[in-house]
Amino acid sequence: MTIDPDNLVLDGNALAGVLASIFGGAEMTAAARGCGSCSQHHPLGEHRLYRGAGWVLRCPGCGDVALTVVEDEARDVREVRFAGRWTIGSGGGDVSAAAGLAG
Ligand SMILES: [Zn+2]
Repeated sequence: MTIDPDNLVLDGNALAGVLASIFGGAEMTAAARGCGSCSQHHPLGEHRLYRGAGWVLRCPGCGDVALTVVEDEARDVREVRFAGRWTIGSGGGDVSAAAGLAG
């Protein structure tokens, strides 16, 4: 049996439950990320999600790593690393655009 790696790719919405459990039930799929590599802005839900030893979220524009989540169930510990500039909140829009900041 062979495993097609393309079948292991999900969209970022699949990470909603994991992130909600980490951040106290917060809805994170609308959080937007400005990529430091390709300068594109995308909501979390549009990112590509890979599952391996943990979760890896990658930029839909260039594939840069946007977020990683590693779970150590034996110790009940989760490590989350964000990369790039994230805008998180229910107000919508991009804080940097509202403040007149460039990409
Ligand atoms: Zn990118």
